[in-house]
Amino acid sequence: MHLAYIELWLNMNPVVEDSHLDVFCLLADAVVHEIPPSEIVEYLHPDFPKDKVEEYLAEFSHPSAIPEFREVAKKIINKGTVLSIKLFLLLTTALDSRILAPALTNSTTLIRDMDLSQREELLRSWRDSPFTTKRKLFRVYNSFTLNAFSKTATDLHFKALGYPGRELRTQIQDYEVDPFRYTFLEKPQQDGQELHFPDIDVLIIGSGSGAGVVAQTLSENGLKSLVLEKGKYFSNDELTMNDLEGSEALFENGGALSSTNQQIFIIAGSTFGGGSTVNWSACLKTPFKVRKEWYDNFGLDFVATQYYEDCMDYVWKKMGASNENIDHSGANSVILEGSKKLGYPHRAVEQNNGGKIHDCGMCHLGCRFGIKQGSVNCWFRGPSENGSKFMQQVLVDKILQRDGKAVGVLCRDVVTGVKFKITGPKKIVVSGGSLQTPVLLQKSGFKNKHIGANLKLHPVSLTLGDFGNDVDFEAYRKPIMTSICNKVEDLDGKAHGTRIEAMLNAPYGVAPFFPWKSGAESRKDLLRYKQTVPILLLSRDTTSGSVTYDKQKPDALVIDYLLNKFDRNSILQGFLIASDLLYIEGAIEIMSPQAWVPRFKSSKPKHARSIEDEDYVNWRAKVAKIPFDSYGSPYGSAHQMSTCRMSGKGPGYGACDTKGKLFECSNVYVADASTLPTASGANPMVSTMSFARHVSLGIVKELQQQSKL
Ligand SMILES: Cc1cc2nc3c(=O)[nH]c(=O)nc-3n(C[C@H](O)[C@H](O)[C@H](O)COP(=O)(O)OP(=O)(O)OC[C@H]3O[C@@H](n4cnc5c(N)ncnc54)[C@H](O)[C@@H]3O)c2cc1C
Repeated sequence: MHLAYIELWLNMNPVVEDSHLDVFCLLADAVVHEIPPSEIVEYLHPDFPKDKVEEYLAEFSHPSAIPEFREVAKKIINKGTVLSIKLFLLLTTALDSRILAPALTNSTTLIRDMDLSQREELLRSWRDSPFTTKRKLFRVYNSFTLNAFSKTATDLHFKALGYPGRELRTQIQDYEVDPFRYTFLEKPQQDGQELHFPDIDVLIIGSGSGAGVVAQTLSENGLKSLVLEKGKYFSNDELTMNDLEGSEALFENGGALSSTNQQIFIIAGSTFGGGSTVNWSACLKTPFKVRKEWYDNFGLDFVATQYYEDCMDYVWKKMGASNENIDHSGANSVILEGSKKLGYPHRAVEQNNGGKIHDCGMCHLGCRFGIKQGSVNCWFRGPSENGSKFMQQVLVDKILQRDGKAVGVLCRDVVTGVKFKITGPKKIVVSGGSLQTPVLLQKSGFKNKHIGANLKLHPVSLTLGDFGNDVDFEAYRKPIMTSICNKVEDLDGKAHGTRIEAMLNAPYGVAPFFPWKSGAESRKDLLRYKQTVPILLLSRDTTSGSVTYDKQKPDALVIDYLLNKFDRNSILQGFLIASDLLYIEGAIEIMSPQAWVPRFKSSKPKHARSIEDEDYVNWRAKVAKIPFDSYGSPYGSAHQMSTCRMSGKGPGYGACDTKGKLFECSNVYVADASTLPTASGANPMVSTMSFARHVSLGIVKELQQQSKL
């Protein structure tokens, strides 16, 4: 046994094989499994054909019976760092060892010999354990299983819960698909070639929210750019509405990224258009207090001026941000109507839809109809007509420098692995997002201590409200995030607090947040999709983390982040406000993701409710005392920021100056969310774009001055 351990630890390239997943799958089967048809009938969608119940349960019974489930698990674990794979293998070996397993299972029976109820009992003991490691184990097994099980579900399962099957998802709306297609440069077929572009003014790395604005600003000033994107381009009609395929194709690390401590899962777009392709369209300007913090603490004079307002107005208008023609979803209506009744500050949130109707709850997989005005449908259109160039599925591995100046980039074709060099452009703008930008700069030899530090994530959790079996919100037909309640967004006078917004209501995203009791209850919870409102608790974090890469496996990110007590309390305050909204709007059950928090149930009619109702007041007082535990809830982040913060106070305070230029290099700029000095508070797309507008206007000025010399 010891030898096996030493061998495993020394293995430089550990790989998880099918055989390593046996224990994993046995536990996954305890997280969720089949239940007798008689017990499931009352939870099925009313349109589900009753004669299909047995077929449904037989073909979609438990995780290990789904071939894709194992494949997804293997793929995701193998994408991790060398250390995380080793830890997984060590854990698997330990759980299957008669000597080591009892320390984790409190039992002399190995997991492979336990029956289903014993495995469920083991999961419950981990869930409620005083030991962090065990609570963490529960959290990882639970969240992963419910997410992957939902993504690999059959169409009958989707029918059972009232979500359109894969084919039907492309037909929910009857808009015409915008037929526009971009063209892309060919990539070299052999290693070592150099592509020289003397006519290109600026090379842009990445194609997300920051990159789009840079390319457009340059283009409207007669300058040309070359945009390099490591993700793949999908024209609108090529976008798949299949959750599994879409996540793998459109998101960083195939949609499977988490902090090294497994506390927080992180999603970031990695496709042509980056985050602007997969985001939820919500447009919010940088809050006043946050701008003041950036001005006071980081010396960013421009954010305190009318000029910054102009930058925000520019991106606002260009994307047609508007709150006209919005048909609010169930969750968004709860936020707006509930806040109105209770006198909580709230408002409808503008969408970057050019004022058009956009009744689609599937934009997390890209906008098939070309309505969402991200990089693809808005920002790159002008540049593509004005001679700018694009290359896809090309990863920039390194910026080449000579005497404090960038002279080119080393690239890798992510499909063929062919490596080549690009030279020629006068300036380089890094817009790879807050996870990849610092990593590229670190790999390129830049040393400023702020590169990769100060990571902000806007960590989120959820409050769930069940409105009863006769309700069907059809969330997939409505825009995702169109409302906000600001009641507890500032808990410390410094704009740290939690915003209440609507969560994407896709089954795979919400499933891990149901408070887990047993495999059978979990099965029923999945079927509550149609009647459940998931409310997002989005906190402006005081916690800071960091990002770097695995030195043994350089494509794997190492993200360190541990939610502090203030931020967990901030999420708790958000939970209480979201509960108020759900109660007043008629939810019959309110749930915390933490299984030990009592659920609130009420059959009182909506019109007769008040948040002064005794039973509600008592429950609220009780749950207000139950903190959000480090591993009690799944935590998530779609907003990574601040890892190359901008500073007007010199390199001691940030990685780049107020023009976005690296302190260490005269022609490399950063223009993405990583430049925001701290968390934006408001969802960061508009702030990111406004910073990118500012950086690119500065570049235009410099290039115009240089051309006059
Ligand atoms: C699911 C989701 C929903 C969101 N919803 C909203 C919302 O409703 N409203 C809002 O304001 N914000 C939202 N956001 C956040 C917002 O989209 C991001 O903050 C914003 O897109 C960040 O822009 P960026 O320029 O920093 O990077 P990104 O938009 O993430 O783009 C970075 C791009 O660079 C590419 N790249 C990275 N490194 C390299 C390299 N070395 N070589 C080549 N290419 C590289 C990546 O593949 C990626 O495509 C959401 C984000 C997500 C993930």
